[in-house]
Amino acid sequence: MKTIVKRALIAGAALLLLGGAWAVLLNTGPTATMLVMMGGAAPTLAEDPPVAAGVRWHDDYFAVVRIDEQTWAIGAPAYPIRAMSYLIVGRERAVLFDTGPGLRDIDGVVRALTDLPVTAAASHLHYDHVGSLDRFDAVALADRPGLRALADETGRLLPPDDMHLGAVERVAAEPFVVTAWWADGQTIDLGGRSLAVLHTPGHTDGSMMLYDKAAGQLYTGDFIYPGNLLALFPGAHMGRYLETARALVERLPQGTTLYPGHLDLEIQPWQLQTLAHGDLVDLVAGLEAIRDGRLEMHAWMPPTWKLNDRLRLIGNYRWNMAWDVR
Ligand SMILES: [Zn+2]
Repeated sequence: MKTIVKRALIAGAALLLLGGAWAVLLNTGPTATMLVMMGGAAPTLAEDPPVAAGVRWHDDYFAVVRIDEQTWAIGAPAYPIRAMSYLIVGRERAVLFDTGPGLRDIDGVVRALTDLPVTAAASHLHYDHVGSLDRFDAVALADRPGLRALADETGRLLPPDDMHLGAVERVAAEPFVVTAWWADGQTIDLGGRSLAVLHTPGHTDGSMMLYDKAAGQLYTGDFIYPGNLLALFPGAHMGRYLETARALVERLPQGTTLYPGHLDLEIQPWQLQTLAHGDLVDLVAGLEAIRDGRLEMHAWMPPTWKLNDRLRLIGNYRWNMAWDVR
């Protein structure tokens, strides 16, 4: 008996020594742990990627799609992960929602589209959304305690590795200065156009969306987009994903257009894709079915569920999922 206790103590001490790695394993499951700890390769950019009609090249990297007279989608068709940014312009100021991975600086294309003061707002801290934040004088994040705690008294913030995840594509985190903390429900007045800030935990704890009610436009970040939704990295939470999705279904009119943080990785030619209210309804139904064990896994490695023809969700194995939101 004594030997068993001794062995247990030694094993416990070893786990404590492993520290952060063990915490990541417990909190996020094996898939994310492997990705974060092993790192990955720098992205291979596609050569001469085909783009759909109506897509205008800004240079040989950025492509712009005009959504309406005051709104543009900005992407990089050569970049495999297909992250999207949105320039939302009012009469007096503009918001750039997400800045891409920073493989090239996005401020040039933004300046070509508007002369107004621009606030760069990040939907969340993952590397593919915060890449050029340091190029902007005004930077906004969701006012969540977990994000505030990362900034010093001047607002300077260097995303920590497990919230930035840049190791996945060998993208180094750059510090930036947060000048505004946007509360849930806060209205951002752009002059003749206003955006509601929605805190939307699920993909990460500090995720936010922007909602232009008058235009029926919802800018979703990585909470929902066509392709594999990721609910497995540090800060992701299945119960909060479900809670947020339910709140959005209730709040948003059925005609709302969703502008996602990524495009489908496969679809050719590169083109702006949107989602609809019905996709949020399917997300709620899918999450409830996963929680209740009613939805078969679509793939085991990583654990993947198919929600509809456009949406799949990659989470953790059942033993490692958290649904309690209290
Ligand atoms: Zn992303």
